Amino acid sequence: MNIHEYQAKALLREYGAPVSDGRVVTKADEAKSKAGEMDGPLWVVKAQIHAGGRGKGSFKEESAGDKGGVRLAKSVEEAADEAKKMLGRTLVTHQTGPAGKQVNRVYLEDGSDIERELYLALLVDRVTSRVSFVCSTEGGMDIEEVAASTPEKILSFSVDPATGYQPFHGRRIAFSLGLEGQQIKQCVKLMGQLYQAFIEKDMEMLEINPLIVMTDGNLKVLDAKLSFDSNALYRQPDIANLRDETEEDPKELEASKYDLNYIALDGEIGCMVNGAGLAMATMDIIKLYGAEPANFLDVGGGATKEKVTEAFKIITSDDNVKGILVNIFGGIMRCDVIAEGVVAAVKEVGLQVPLVVRLEGTNVEKGKEIINTSGLNVIAADNLSDGAEKIVKAVKG
Ligand code: GDP
Ligand code: MG
Repeated sequence: MNIHEYQAKALLREYGAPVSDGRVVTKADEAKSKAGEMDGPLWVVKAQIHAGGRGKGSFKEESAGDKGGVRLAKSVEEAADEAKKMLGRTLVTHQTGPAGKQVNRVYLEDGSDIERELYLALLVDRVTSRVSFVCSTEGGMDIEEVAASTPEKILSFSVDPATGYQPFHGRRIAFSLGLEGQQIKQCVKLMGQLYQAFIEKDMEMLEINPLIVMTDGNLKVLDAKLSFDSNALYRQPDIANLRDETEEDPKELEASKYDLNYIALDGEIGCMVNGAGLAMATMDIIKLYGAEPANFLDVGGGATKEKVTEAFKIITSDDNVKGILVNIFGGIMRCDVIAEGVVAAVKEVGLQVPLVVRLEGTNVEKGKEIINTSGLNVIAADNLSDGAEKIVKAVKG
């Protein structure tokens, strides 16, 4: 689960990390009074969306002006004006995709004077199975470019879970970032605060880009992106409360209510599969036959008829879906349950696109019979490649 920058900064502030004073604005008429609560002389006006690259992004509407989603202002009036221009408009960045994201909140922040922009992240490194710090002297808006063309400028340090964070980790990071004097002490302290927040709040990733050295020599967290392990949210009620459902794909949100593992994608073939591995294989084979999957969907081992019905409804609610492939290997999941769910869903929402069903495993004959006697216009398939070939053919002709 992701949260907004302003929420991330409030959380890191609780752990003692240096962040600027700021105010969230959701309504245009609040912008001026909120900006007036800060001293200036520099204000930063930042669009709050769950995507990075805001500074280099651009708005779809001309009325938003031609500056990106991070703007500097030199007066209360100017800050309020920039906030008003962004609210309600659609920001497109390299992370939002061409559709962009509507800006429902803007963060007004006390501006900082920057000497250097550094990069810092904490993440779970799957290769070492450890929490790792990742850092670079080349922070700012082009970190992807740094990673692609000069990967040697990005360093990583893993933390042994038996010892946890130790000051030497912080000193190593400080030296590799070229910090000096008091900055080294500040860095050791800040890294400890970030590590503690990361562990205590069950984060998956913490990214500070940029971490800045200000002209007065102090460090500051200028941008913050946090994502949390969704499986741990049951024990992090404060974090779960920060969820902004308007930032999420409505289909994914609906799916999460029914405990379905669903990820929306851009293709045209809707997939209903049981088991994550089989779902991955199904997506691969659809691509092999020349089409693109519209989603990843694992209905899970213990799915009920109701759950299958919901899953089917979510797939059919996607306008991009031009055909559906149901691919079930019944082990714990029974083929007749899937068949009943599919039939019930089609009766409820109708079927506007071709449907290929491949059933195998427990109660397969019963499942096939339910489909065959349902009167539905279903194309039966015998195996995985047959199913993929048939659905691609039905869609593409
Ligand atoms: P992102 O583009 O979504 O990553 O948004 P950031 O919060 O990282 O801001 C983008 C860039 O705006 C930063 O890399 C800085 O160069 C600039 N910026 C952000 N805040 C300030 C500030 O307080 N003062 C100055 N001078 N520049 C800022
Ligand atoms: Mg940034």
